Amino acid sequence: MGNKLVEFLSKLTTSSKEVTPDILILQFTIVNAYLVGKPNQSDWTLVDTGLENSADFIIQAAEERFGKGVRPQAIILTHGHFDHVGSLIKLSQHWDIPVYAHEFELPYITGEKDYPLADPSVGGGLVAAISPTFPHTSIDIGFRANPLPSDHSVPGMPGWKWILTPGHTDGHIALFHETDGILIPGDAFTTVKQESLLSVMTQSEQISGPPAYLTTDWKAAKSSVDKLSDLKPSLVIPSHGQPMKGDELTLHLDMLTHHFEEIAVPEQGIFVD
Ligand SMILES: [Zn+2]
Ligand SMILES: [Zn+2]
Repeated sequence: MGNKLVEFLSKLTTSSKEVTPDILILQFTIVNAYLVGKPNQSDWTLVDTGLENSADFIIQAAEERFGKGVRPQAIILTHGHFDHVGSLIKLSQHWDIPVYAHEFELPYITGEKDYPLADPSVGGGLVAAISPTFPHTSIDIGFRANPLPSDHSVPGMPGWKWILTPGHTDGHIALFHETDGILIPGDAFTTVKQESLLSVMTQSEQISGPPAYLTTDWKAAKSSVDKLSDLKPSLVIPSHGQPMKGDELTLHLDMLTHHFEEIAVPEQGIFVD
């Protein structure tokens, strides 16, 4: 039931909007994906792939932005959770392109390793309550899976670098564009209380830690938030919630790093000490 609810919600308010001249954010209610590249250029890259039913919308958005039949150079994954790889098999086959993820994350997209079941006992709302119904078993994209380059460059995204930000998952990465101060933090932190259906539906802004029901190492998660905060980003475009920038962002990130225990870490849960 939970999964159907998520799929239903994602279709209900699917939308896209340009956040910067070369980033189009695709919003599937509960999760975001990004087209990186300027309109009408043939060089572009897809970051994450939304849910299982997101492929058609992504292809359509890409055709509108870059032209019919223009394929991305690659798909970059922040990590392998179901709401980020939902349309990965379909899209990587459709375009016949390589997929890049951190080497620690590759087992989850090559059929070798499953994530643990989500933990509903972290509480926080209906999304957390139905989280055990979310897919957690590995998908297998076979030969198209590649490790990210060890020099931290991001294939198809010049000027960007990837940063290992474990905690939510072992091989979770964020993407940072240093000269513009743009940060794609993946699930390292969010700007919505992702556990709560009401917050997710209304997208009420509130800086939060990673989605709690799927986060397995809170100590590492805290270090990762510190690492990203130290970059002093001017704009963040998270996987869950709305983009945030400027003074509001600085204030919220500061609050999150200084009160991580209270804001992010659930009071109880399988992965909480
Ligand atoms: Zn995740
Ligand atoms: Zn996520």
